[in-house]
Amino acid sequence: MAERERVAVVGAGTMGNGIAHVFAQHGHEVVLVDVSQERLEDARSTIAANLDRQVRKGALDARARDATLARIATATELEAAATATVVLEAVPEDYRLKADLFEDLDALTMEAVLASNTSSISITALARNTARPERVIGMHFMNPVPVMKLVEVIRGLQTSEETTTKVLDLARRLDKTPVQVNDSPGFVSNRVLMPMINEAIFCLMEGVADAQAIDTVMKLGMNHPLGPLALADLIGLDTCLAILEVLHRDLGEDRYRPCPLLRKYVAAGWLGRKAGRGFFNYS
Ligand code: NAD
Repeated sequence: MAERERVAVVGAGTMGNGIAHVFAQHGHEVVLVDVSQERLEDARSTIAANLDRQVRKGALDARARDATLARIATATELEAAATATVVLEAVPEDYRLKADLFEDLDALTMEAVLASNTSSISITALARNTARPERVIGMHFMNPVPVMKLVEVIRGLQTSEETTTKVLDLARRLDKTPVQVNDSPGFVSNRVLMPMINEAIFCLMEGVADAQAIDTVMKLGMNHPLGPLALADLIGLDTCLAILEVLHRDLGEDRYRPCPLLRKYVAAGWLGRKAGRGFFNYS
């Protein structure tokens, strides 16, 4: 893989803006693609604000900030991804949406590695929508992307050794620590995390304690930097629900059943931080 990639990040939401930020900061040319011009504008402002914070902390100089921003282009048409060498898909956690996108990306791009930032969906199944299953892989960044070190690298059934090696190396060049796992619902991260978040929501629904108390127990008692309910708000409650639905359906066990209170909040549009309200109020 070339030292400098041409990276297309598809989906400019919570994760897409952070992924674009990190690739651009490490010298890669990035085009950020979203169906919504408004999301693209929001993403640009978020990236600029996060870069400014890095400058204030002394982690970056002003020239590097400007160069990073200059390396990020935006587009509302997927055609902008045609010349990419690496595509990072970060659209919502919905199999049909991602499958259609992989089919389009396969037709549009030549040699690109097609990587998904999915939290739970089968990489093997996504790869089936392409004629290049050996170059389809999971590259699962954590939120907030510029801060979190881990990249879970998920190998689908047909992902080649060459693609895996390239992506592990690429993650290291982004100053991240990649961990390789096999394709399985929720991989390791969300297989372990989501049942804990779900259980915290059951505690809230059953009146075991209020949201603040539940999070305080887990922060002070288990040394978690963020309580499970605040973490769910950060991730997005719609995303949490979609992940739990994949775990429940694909592993077939009752213990992954999404809590009805989570469904109710999502139905109300209380999606967490990005909506200004979730288990806590952010307005
Ligand atoms: P989000 O809802 O914040 O953003 C998704 C973006 O995709 C939106 O801006 C939307 O306009 C855009 N989009 C929808 N359809 C599109 C299309 N066809 N083409 C281009 N853009 C399209 O979602 P998110 O939280 O950033 O999650 C994205 C992916 O990352 C999901 O698979 C999610 O499971 C995964 N993920 C999320 C987190 C997290 O903490 N939120 C962490 C790790 C992984």
